[in-house]
Amino acid sequence: MSSFRKRALDEFASHRPERFFVENQPVSEYFGQNVFDVEKMRRYLSAEAFDAVQSAINEGVRIEREIANQIASGMKAWAVERGATHYTHWFHPLTDATAEKHEAFVDPSKNGGVFENFRGDALVQQEPDASSFPNGGLRNTFEARGYTAWDPTSPAFIIDQTLCIPTVFVAYTGESLDQKTPHLKSLQALDKAAVELASLFDPAVKRVNVMLGIEQEYFLVDEALYRARPDLMLCNRTLIGHTAAKDQQLEDHYFGAIPSRVMNYMKDFETEAYKLGVVLKTRHNEVAPNQFEFAPYFNEANLSVDQNLMMMILMRKIAKRHKLKVIFHEKPFAGVNGSGKHCNYSMVTNRGVNLLSPGRTPGTNLQFLSFFVSIIRAVYEHHHLLMASVASLNNSYRLGGGEAPPAVMSVFIGRTLTTILDSIEEFSAHSGKEGEQINKRLNIVGKIPQILPDNTDRNRTSPFAFTGNRFEFRAVGSSVNVASTIFVLNAAVAQQLVRFKKLVQAKIDGGSTQDEALLDTIREFIIESKAIRFEGNGYSKEWQEEAKRRGLRGISDVPQAYKAFLEKDTLKLMRETDVLTEREVEARYEVMNEIYLKKLQIEARVLGDLTVNHIIPTAIKFQNSLIQNVLGIKEIFGPDEYKVMSERQLIAIKKISGYIEQLREDFHSLVEARKEANVIESYSERAQAYSSTVLPFMEKMRVVADKLEMVVDDELWPLPKYRELMFWR
Ligand code: ADP
Ligand code: MG
Repeated sequence: MSSFRKRALDEFASHRPERFFVENQPVSEYFGQNVFDVEKMRRYLSAEAFDAVQSAINEGVRIEREIANQIASGMKAWAVERGATHYTHWFHPLTDATAEKHEAFVDPSKNGGVFENFRGDALVQQEPDASSFPNGGLRNTFEARGYTAWDPTSPAFIIDQTLCIPTVFVAYTGESLDQKTPHLKSLQALDKAAVELASLFDPAVKRVNVMLGIEQEYFLVDEALYRARPDLMLCNRTLIGHTAAKDQQLEDHYFGAIPSRVMNYMKDFETEAYKLGVVLKTRHNEVAPNQFEFAPYFNEANLSVDQNLMMMILMRKIAKRHKLKVIFHEKPFAGVNGSGKHCNYSMVTNRGVNLLSPGRTPGTNLQFLSFFVSIIRAVYEHHHLLMASVASLNNSYRLGGGEAPPAVMSVFIGRTLTTILDSIEEFSAHSGKEGEQINKRLNIVGKIPQILPDNTDRNRTSPFAFTGNRFEFRAVGSSVNVASTIFVLNAAVAQQLVRFKKLVQAKIDGGSTQDEALLDTIREFIIESKAIRFEGNGYSKEWQEEAKRRGLRGISDVPQAYKAFLEKDTLKLMRETDVLTEREVEARYEVMNEIYLKKLQIEARVLGDLTVNHIIPTAIKFQNSLIQNVLGIKEIFGPDEYKVMSERQLIAIKKISGYIEQLREDFHSLVEARKEANVIESYSERAQAYSSTVLPFMEKMRVVADKLEMVVDDELWPLPKYRELMFWR
């Protein structure tokens, strides 16, 4: 066997399940020990400092410098006790990764020796020299510095003896260079709009939080096999590789027993997650072989996003000691399911009421319906933008693949709620005896809680589904920072809530009762957003056609989809909700294209390397052995026998020649296409050129390379095959 692959397989065979997790105490004993949560604050901060942080968290009150010093000192005392030696401002640049620059606590002391130091300034603001993060032109002038600023709403935590302080990352002009800033702003906009509407029902509502539960799917690959695959190493996905004879068709992996090597890894990772205060609730096998999922208990959206990013760091780190690699890529293997991050989305008031939970009375159901239809209306209004916000090179290999949400948006709400919305729609507001009409409609509204428990139908093919007390957005990719999508959703929802409230108010001012005004507005929203509702099979061809007829805009090409960000309605949405300025949107648009382009460039290079330096030479070697064999036969046997004995072999030799020629030709065309594209100045146009001229050759090359894998002697094949990468337990 090719020594490269053989070495990897031998090493893989030597990897045994190992137990690293050591905690024998109950989880509650060590839960949260590595996070500076309320309990630690109470212990390590003065009453004054504690109150200041709480007001900052709950009411957005600014923290004074003097108090910041006190907080920093308490935080340091705790961190040093827990063994931390460094601190870092932890931020989320536009790359989906997280960034950190570590500083030691120690400073030299005047009288020799060192002392641990951490001042309020260092806590509140830093200026990392982070000039090489993508910024879409926001930092092009030379004094355009970038600053990180403390986000007190997300608690500091310790990973690897380093105190990590969640921060936003902005240019000196205040323009955002990260994912957290627009997310926080969108949460503010939504809070404001939701409070206005919710206080119609309960004047004591002062705050509405978005709640997010993020399900994370991922693949695990043995580290030795991973290292033997340049494509996995450099692109996080396999660029070639024939599907294994058996993969997920028997569905024997989904929810099956978790392999012991994986189980050890999960327990190890979960132990560390608990220490970071993350409540992991579920773990299971996913559909594809070696694909898994975990879901933490849902949390306030900003915290939930930070925790998800913390988990990704932790998972990569802990995989090392299990000789595993975690793959967060949306589509690492062709032919089996890809991975997503399902975002479970709801809103809760300071009174503890989930606004998406149908109530017990017609009154609370009116509240539920008001929020419910506003979200549907928001998804309808910005359906194209929402899809564009989840679009990426990675996700383009997954979405619409008949196993993942389709690339066009729709909302699934289930049979019961469909019936209810349809009935509300049927009653026309101003015909018949009005009082009677309203009563009839309220009657329907009142029926919701009785019917809902039976409502068990679940539609897995919908990108945006209502699941009883929350919506689940399933099109989001597994490798991304979900803030990049959730801020769009928040803004869209905030916009509709404002609109809803305005319409209701106008009706009340016009003499309607509040219930009438609410019901009429609910009805208007139902009618306006009807086109986005779809209960059928989202994977079907018919739906694609139907969606087109309904005027829903899907996405097929990523750089094309990104243009949604520059549309008038998007800019208006971002301006109205104060989430992003036009300049920030434009910068983000550039960055998205830049990342798309660079990833595709890397993939094209790696594919070139794989075919030219690995696959073609292997094919030639194999072909030579066939040629030798045929020549030998010719020498030993007479021409009649030779003809009979070699016919198939000669065909095989020709076939391999054909594949090699084809590969060379497509590779040549790919290089030419890249050359042509590379001279284009603007990122967005270059990304577009790559998508329409380079990508098609990559797909063609893969088909040929995979055919070669099927004919070439297994002994010679240099790369670990799908069956080896995926069935390794
Ligand atoms: P499934 O795979 O069936 O969709 P999971 O149990 O894997 O469900 O994940 C559901 C996720 O939704 C969890 O993170 C859970 O905490 C979260 N969740 C549950 N209720 C809510 C809610 N009201 N708002 C937001 N997220 C929620
Ligand atoms: Mg789910």
